[in-house]
Amino acid sequence: MKFSELGLSDSLLKAIKRSGYEEATPIQEQTIPMVLEGKDVIGQAQTGTGKTAAFGLPIIENVDTENPNIQAIIISPTRELANQTQEACRRFGASSNIRNACLYDGVPKRQQIQDLGRGAEIVIACPGRLLDLLEGGYTNLRRVTYLVMDEADRMLDMGFEPQIRKIVGQIRPDRQTLMWSATWPK
Ligand code: AMP
Repeated sequence: MKFSELGLSDSLLKAIKRSGYEEATPIQEQTIPMVLEGKDVIGQAQTGTGKTAAFGLPIIENVDTENPNIQAIIISPTRELANQTQEACRRFGASSNIRNACLYDGVPKRQQIQDLGRGAEIVIACPGRLLDLLEGGYTNLRRVTYLVMDEADRMLDMGFEPQIRKIVGQIRPDRQTLMWSATWPK
């Protein structure tokens, strides 16, 4: 299906075209309209199916650059996946001046704190470092309207449930939740 049939704006369609995507993948075709309608989504999708754009594009479409708070938080199991997601957010969000920050463990906090201080509408984060920076008072999730849990099954396998519960507890209950998992055990 063509991206132009999914309800995205012309400026975003131009960015999609520039990145060389011709047609939406099945997961994008199914979920982009649902996200734009404000629904919660559970997507069963492996990496490689286009799931990053499936949640990234409708979020970028709806983020308000007049509001400098974090509006979308994407929780990611690993630094590697967080970096890939950041790259996609940059690619599609740059022309509308959407800023992001990427938070992960294993590096000094200073740059990440600076990125948050400068203002970021979209934050991609691994649970441990995000919680650390929240507990340090460097940021807050009070204005978050999109919560994305990427590779949720893997995060549970890695034992992140307690951290995820603490993070999610700080987000307003009327947010939109988009949960992605490669497997879906009962
Ligand atoms: P993901 O499943 O999000 O990790 O995406 C896997 C790869 O597919 C990435 O390199 C994306 O840039 C690419 N991709 C995502 N959506 C499309 C699309 N509609 N057409 C072509 N490539 C895509």
